[in-house]
Amino acid sequence: MQRRMCECGRDIWVQYRISGTVCRPVFWSVSLRAGRTVHVCPSCGAFLHIDALQ
Ligand SMILES: [Zn+2]
Repeated sequence: MQRRMCECGRDIWVQYRISGTVCRPVFWSVSLRAGRTVHVCPSCGAFLHIDALQ
């Protein structure tokens, strides 16, 4: 798990899931156990992309 930050300052956790030769990021709103997967920022609604997170 990597801790990233949205442009709005919201913490986003990133987990990498490997399926075959593809490694794709999965975004979590809080943490792996307490949160849920998200595709947009829970705070500002921005679409989450690994390259857009800091
Ligand atoms: Zn945000």
